[in-house]
Amino acid sequence: MTEYWNAELETKPWSEVEGWQAGQIAAMLPALRQRSRFYARLHRDASIRSTIRSLADLAPLPFTLKDHLRAAQQTTRADEPFGDNQAATLSDIVQAISSSGTTGQPLYYALTQRDIERFADAIAHVWFTAGIRRDDVVAHLVGLPMVAGGLPYADGFRRIGATLCWLGGFPTERVVRDMRRLRVTALLATTSFAQYLAQRWSEIGRETGIPSSLKKVIGGGEPGLGQPEIRAGIQQGLALTHLRDTMGLGDVLPSMWGECELQDGMHFNAQRYVAVELIAPDSGEQLPWRDGATGELVYTTFARDATPVVRYRSRDHALVVGTRCACGRTSPRIRCIGRTDDMLIFKGMNVFPSAIRDLVVGRFAGRVEPVLRILKDRQDQVRFDDAIDVEIEATEALDAAPRDALAREIEAAVRSQLQVRVAVTVSPPNTLPRGTYKNALVVVRDGVGKGTA
Ligand SMILES: [Zn+2]
Repeated sequence: MTEYWNAELETKPWSEVEGWQAGQIAAMLPALRQRSRFYARLHRDASIRSTIRSLADLAPLPFTLKDHLRAAQQTTRADEPFGDNQAATLSDIVQAISSSGTTGQPLYYALTQRDIERFADAIAHVWFTAGIRRDDVVAHLVGLPMVAGGLPYADGFRRIGATLCWLGGFPTERVVRDMRRLRVTALLATTSFAQYLAQRWSEIGRETGIPSSLKKVIGGGEPGLGQPEIRAGIQQGLALTHLRDTMGLGDVLPSMWGECELQDGMHFNAQRYVAVELIAPDSGEQLPWRDGATGELVYTTFARDATPVVRYRSRDHALVVGTRCACGRTSPRIRCIGRTDDMLIFKGMNVFPSAIRDLVVGRFAGRVEPVLRILKDRQDQVRFDDAIDVEIEATEALDAAPRDALAREIEAAVRSQLQVRVAVTVSPPNTLPRGTYKNALVVVRDGVGKGTA
């Protein structure tokens, strides 16, 4: 029988949840324009102050973009270090969190004590949906407390009552041994780290002489778990079946989506604090939650004191896997299919690197390893006029001779499925670099060491 974190909200018809959220948003907006100079400005136009009875009524409100938040943080002063969108006083703010800042200057977000409680509840909700319970011993591997996956994730585990082992920050070898010694039963890891661990786990076990207690893996931080071959590799290497994908966004709430026991797409678990819309990325039009629909996720925080967002464009693109689930949860289930920031353009065709990976790894399973990288010339390169260079690794099972033939076969498959031309190199097994944290799917050629023609 399914256990829920918040049975009432999780099983109420989704239209009713959205109706309740619309009421919360309607009550929040006038005060928000008093608290945040940024939203006072963005919502200045009177025409958008119409009555909000459903999430459809949000449509006239302008979107909030990451660039807006960036600009709002240019205007900091001593009593407002978070800039124009600081909507609480310093005396009420108790914590700053930061974006990872991998693309430029990091953004900062603030939390009041109430915000921290809400984060902990929402994130615990995601971990609970993903199967974490009080008696779990959880390895938390994020090394930086200040990022969205740091303290907030840790608070979520402790809220459930699980035993938090914050191993992030130690050298990888130590992390893996400590996981054995502490009899870790559950692990939160990026897909890359889970893949890495799957390859090393039994070897480390032999060294420590301690049998594995690991039963549950929660993935997060990068896409890939939607891919059956990647899932299977991790499940086999770690000898477990419990593998759940999760997703959030530091700008909004660090973990909002999580997979239930059916392991078929992530439910929205932040409904108590955040409303989510699906929109067409080009027109900005709202889309209904319908099986098979794809669009960009847009979030509104209606219970956030310090740095709230209204209709924030996440740049995350999702596929709606289902709107009903045997677990009884009513929130839509999605898979993340890519980020706007990752999109490549081949002669006017948009393509997500993850779409290339998913096609190749799925179609050619058994002949190629689920490791692939796409090469570009410059960090900011988005457009390709020539075939996009793709490197993939053969499995041990494949002899050297058919590698070229396989490369041509992959090129043809990508061209016919995605209308994109790629130039594939199939390398021998274990030749592509594997990171332990996140494996970049797209890398700049200069950083590669070896050029590919
Ligand atoms: Zn479910």
